[in-house]
Amino acid sequence: MLSFLIANFFLAYIIGIDELGKLVEEGIFVNFGTFSALVLFTLVFFFVYSWFREQACIIVCPYGRLQGVLLDKNSILVAYDYVRGEPRGKITELGNGDCVNCHACVRVCPTGIDIRNGTQLECVNCTACIDACNEIMDHIGKPQGLIRYASENNIAKKEKTTYTWRLKMYTIVLTALISFLALLLITRADVSARIIKTPGQTYQKLEGGKISNLYNIKLANKTRRLIHVVLKLEEMEGEISMINPIDVPKESYFQTSFFVTFKKEQLHHRKTKFKVGIYENGKCIQTATATFLGPVIQK
Ligand code: SF4
Ligand code: SF4
Repeated sequence: MLSFLIANFFLAYIIGIDELGKLVEEGIFVNFGTFSALVLFTLVFFFVYSWFREQACIIVCPYGRLQGVLLDKNSILVAYDYVRGEPRGKITELGNGDCVNCHACVRVCPTGIDIRNGTQLECVNCTACIDACNEIMDHIGKPQGLIRYASENNIAKKEKTTYTWRLKMYTIVLTALISFLALLLITRADVSARIIKTPGQTYQKLEGGKISNLYNIKLANKTRRLIHVVLKLEEMEGEISMINPIDVPKESYFQTSFFVTFKKEQLHHRKTKFKVGIYENGKCIQTATATFLGPVIQK
């Protein structure tokens, strides 16, 4: 049941919670394809939680594998201090390191690895082994940090972490990515629009030598206020006849239809591209293009 619930949330994440509510109201038989996909995802989630478990992290998730490519001996990660810990063994035996071989770090590891064997792809950096080992160190009166965030060079050569060329390159790449993301956010339009010709409809011949086509427009309002928009043709003379006024609710989609009419003489091909401006309070906030179908008029 939890898997089914998670599959529903997953679907809501993709299509929106209101759309999911509509599908539920309409019933299983009307939306049988969607329901089948939901059942399929439920089975996938159930499979992962009941059997596959940490193998999703180890085998499927690319994060660990990508990390392996990015690391070197100066990379700071969850590491076992083998210089201090080895040889492992009972605290009562002379000559042993600080690791008492209690396996607490192995028992708490969600991916079932022994961090004392070195850095491994399976490690998801959850730090559970650090906490478990610190607790043991407290019990036996040794300093914490036998497992800690450290690099290979920190442990083996007692070197301090330095700002290496690799780190400098990562900083440049990260800065470029953050700048790109910021640019996308700053230049993001409040409204996005998609216009497509209504399927199954051909052009209509009107009186006075005019040709008209029916279109669907889908608008997404990304703001937190209702937006009233007006459509106007850009670059070409013609008419737009709306069926309904366009009031796009906040943070929602809105879909409606409208006719576009041009004079025959304006159409020199079977398909003519035209541009529609979307205006709010007289200001163009977005444009969208579509294709007009009509008879071919020779020049
Ligand atoms: S950080 Fe987490 S995943 Fe990595 S070895 Fe420790 S317990 Fe295991
Ligand atoms: S928890 Fe610490 S002391 Fe125990 S086995 Fe792991 S590293 Fe050794």
